[in-house]
Amino acid sequence: MPDQPILEVAVPAPLRQHFDYLPPSGHVGELPAPGSRVRVPFGRRRMVGVVVGSRFANVAERRLRRVEEVLDETPLLGARDLELLAWAARYYHHPLGEVIATALPTRLRKGGAIDIDVVQRWRLTQAGQALAPDELVRAPRQAAVHALLAEHQEAGADDFASLDGDWRAALRALSGKGLVERFEIAARERDLEAVERAPRHALNPGQVAAVEAIVSCEGFAPFLLDGVTGSGKTEVYLHAIERVLARGGQALLLVPEIGLTPQLLERVAGHFGRRPAVLHSGLADGTRQAAWRAACEGDADVVVGTRSAVFVPLARPGVIVVDEEHDPSFKQQDGFRYHARDVAVVRAREAGIPVVLGSATPSLESLRNAGLGRYRTLRLPARAGDAAVPAVDLVDLRGRKLSAGISPQLLQALDEELDAGRQALVFLNRRGFATTLICHDCGWIAGCRRCDARMTLHLARERLCCHHCGSERRPDSRCPDCGGEDLRPLGQGTERLEAVLAERYAAAGVVRIDRDTTRRRGSLDAKLAAVHGGQARLLVGTQMLAKGHHFPEVTLVGVVNADAGLFGTDFRAAERVAQQIVQVVGRAGRAQHPGRVLVQTHHPEHPLLQALVHSGYHAFAEAALQERRQAGLPPWTHLALLRAEAVDASAPDDFLERARMLLPSGAGVDAYGPVPAPMARRGGRQRAQLLLQAPRREPLQRLLDTWIEAVERLPAARRVRWSLDVDPIELF
Ligand code: ADP
Ligand code: ZN
Ligand code: ZN
Repeated sequence: MPDQPILEVAVPAPLRQHFDYLPPSGHVGELPAPGSRVRVPFGRRRMVGVVVGSRFANVAERRLRRVEEVLDETPLLGARDLELLAWAARYYHHPLGEVIATALPTRLRKGGAIDIDVVQRWRLTQAGQALAPDELVRAPRQAAVHALLAEHQEAGADDFASLDGDWRAALRALSGKGLVERFEIAARERDLEAVERAPRHALNPGQVAAVEAIVSCEGFAPFLLDGVTGSGKTEVYLHAIERVLARGGQALLLVPEIGLTPQLLERVAGHFGRRPAVLHSGLADGTRQAAWRAACEGDADVVVGTRSAVFVPLARPGVIVVDEEHDPSFKQQDGFRYHARDVAVVRAREAGIPVVLGSATPSLESLRNAGLGRYRTLRLPARAGDAAVPAVDLVDLRGRKLSAGISPQLLQALDEELDAGRQALVFLNRRGFATTLICHDCGWIAGCRRCDARMTLHLARERLCCHHCGSERRPDSRCPDCGGEDLRPLGQGTERLEAVLAERYAAAGVVRIDRDTTRRRGSLDAKLAAVHGGQARLLVGTQMLAKGHHFPEVTLVGVVNADAGLFGTDFRAAERVAQQIVQVVGRAGRAQHPGRVLVQTHHPEHPLLQALVHSGYHAFAEAALQERRQAGLPPWTHLALLRAEAVDASAPDDFLERARMLLPSGAGVDAYGPVPAPMARRGGRQRAQLLLQAPRREPLQRLLDTWIEAVERLPAARRVRWSLDVDPIELF
């Protein structure tokens, strides 16, 4: 029998292999090239897979199934894209089919054609425009949709998606009354729409040097752009990108969260006179696919996206920028657990282009890479505009009488600033009203029934919420243990802080910015506008305040609690808190009023805090790096974490024990565990983990290559949910 052509197909299934198929029946001519999607039978289902290779072999025809349909005439993914995805699958030890699925917009993943890209939009009719606002008071959803359209002239599914309730029903009702009409536009036009160019700054010498360094390199060149907040890093990205575009390249700009940084998109658009293609998970399928296509066909010069955009095919890759490279949201924490910053560096190396990692508070990993000479550091030590970085003081909380967690010193400072008509910001990285509810009679605490965690009290919504598994319930009115009725909120959340401060500083106007107050589209913008317009002069919020925005009129920053990070369970907790504090502080102040910062703590003598406050982030980072070195932790060593969870309490340990027994000895890799996860029960499941640690990456990778396949075959693996996390950033 002659050799048969065989297609190797990656399917989105949790299996670390590809599958062989025969070409479709009646197939003549060329085989579908790697990167083309095909519809294949898989078990009793049909799946959309991607061809990753082909070969000729002598196989009995009846042993193989046939591809049912070839979905792409020209491959959707190029050879470079496939190589990157295959690298990521190997490095993170995740099934290639699932890795590829991560890289594709949903519609393409499901087999949809690439070239349907009209997007539906809605606008008000004349009758709708003439409608008086109070005519819809009895239909709040319709009123919300109407208000959104009145404000933005037109809107699409993306814009409506964050409204509460069934906005489609509201739209239908409004259309029925003749108040709203639907229309279609080519998605491409909307995405890459021209806009007016914004005036530009002349770059300062530090910025010029940074831009020149980035654009003058040939081939792969990794940079760490290390510049304080407001030093003009974004300006450097934009000018470097502009030079790359002039040479015919495309630019990929990765950001942590687009919803929080609308100003960045405006700046990109204003700089280039054209909206960039935008890729993030909050977009409607059609819009996202259109942006994806514009990127891979080369229509979009500039592509701005979150984490998964690191995989978007680019026709002419020219430069990759990772803004706020320290931000943990670049790491995917479930399923395919990749780190977009690290993938970006590998991608740039494969493509032979520069990559710029920018931050005011670089991760310890990147600082170490810079120290080793793997990255070239570009420094912007001073603020670009008319701003100075304020001085920081520690407030010793020991023995102080606190109101809502705030010391008399901080209150006095707030009095002074707000009385003088200036603005202030209070940072507390915990949302909700109180940490939990406690019984004053017996000490009972409102715990989650499914997790080893307390329920957070959200007073306005009258709910107890578990921030770990999402369970909610009405706050108890009596103690379930002793029947007592004196249940009190315990601990501080931003909601309580806001309530207390709003009472004391009613005249100043208090706004709270956290995930609970900014769920609706437009609400963040409205709050920011109130701050910038001066109607609200006291800001309260979580780390959302640490991202993207700038509050030049703020002259006082209060950090309510620095201690959580110093004594957090995770070895990265201190780094996170230091980054948050520095980022929040960096959002405030101008030269005329550099202002001041008060950081509250019960441990003012803590060496890391001392380093941070007196010598700044880099001194802190240096001290933290030395601590990590002594403890043998990353970036000095490399980790992989095998996690397991199950309803059956003994199954995770059993599985991990067996997995541990499969480890070869003398491989240069140490194993710790199994141990219970820091939160041993979550969502009703028992959780445990096995930690692998190695001084070098290669032996760890080599071990994982064979070990994970053996682990997968363990019968005990079928009784748990398990996952492997290479370079975990959280140990739970
Ligand atoms: P970063 O990204 O480091 O936070 P930005 O690029 O956002 O800094 O710049 C901070 C502020 O300084 C912005 O308002 C920006 O317009 C302004 N700025 C940046 N570069 C210059 C410059 N060379 N001259 C004057 N202002 C500048
Ligand atoms: Zn009680
Ligand atoms: Zn829970």
